[in-house]
Amino acid sequence: MTAEDSLATRSVMRDYPPASAVRTLYSPEAIAARVKELGRQISADYAGGPLVLICVLKGSFMFAADLVRAISLPVRIEFLGVQSYGSGTESTGAVQIIQDLTQPIENEDVLVVEDIVDTGLTIAYILSLLRARNTKSLRICALLDKPSRRRVEAVADYVGFTVEDKFIVGYGLDHAQEYRNLPGLVRVARDPAVIP
Ligand code: 5GP
Repeated sequence: MTAEDSLATRSVMRDYPPASAVRTLYSPEAIAARVKELGRQISADYAGGPLVLICVLKGSFMFAADLVRAISLPVRIEFLGVQSYGSGTESTGAVQIIQDLTQPIENEDVLVVEDIVDTGLTIAYILSLLRARNTKSLRICALLDKPSRRRVEAVADYVGFTVEDKFIVGYGLDHAQEYRNLPGLVRVARDPAVIP
């Protein structure tokens, strides 16, 4: 890629989505600072390790990638692919595992990394699945928590930010698979589902 190509790419990126349509809730810098704090707390709580960190796909891929670098313990990474069925921005709680872990987690300290706990249905399903695998411990780290939306009891042990009942995208979170690549946590006005 030439220097000119890379400049052209950067100017395209700057226009997507148009700045006027985006309201930033948490900037990349604010996220990085909070992730560092979470990493420090987790490293202290699991002093010595080892820890198995389960990245729930797809929404937590970016958060997990940053969080794992903020944890100073021996960590094994696993990915759990889940698909929840729902219309638009609502989850129904019907969750299907589309990619399972590659190795057993029996007798391991396990930390599930989720993008957001909303109604709680998804994480409740994931926990029931993982509890059956006889881990030594099982905790949840959620980037975002929307406690006002809970339909089932679900408590995240570590939370990045507690948010209101607003649909948020960016930093791995999508709407219809779009916006995951935005570096901050934002609301996008041009999407009818996410009018601020
Ligand atoms: P729950 O089962 O807790 O209602 O929903 C969890 C899933 O719904 C999350 O993992 C996420 O994929 C999706 N979700 C809930 N709220 C939001 C939101 O504000 N923004 C985005 N992008 N996804 C959300």
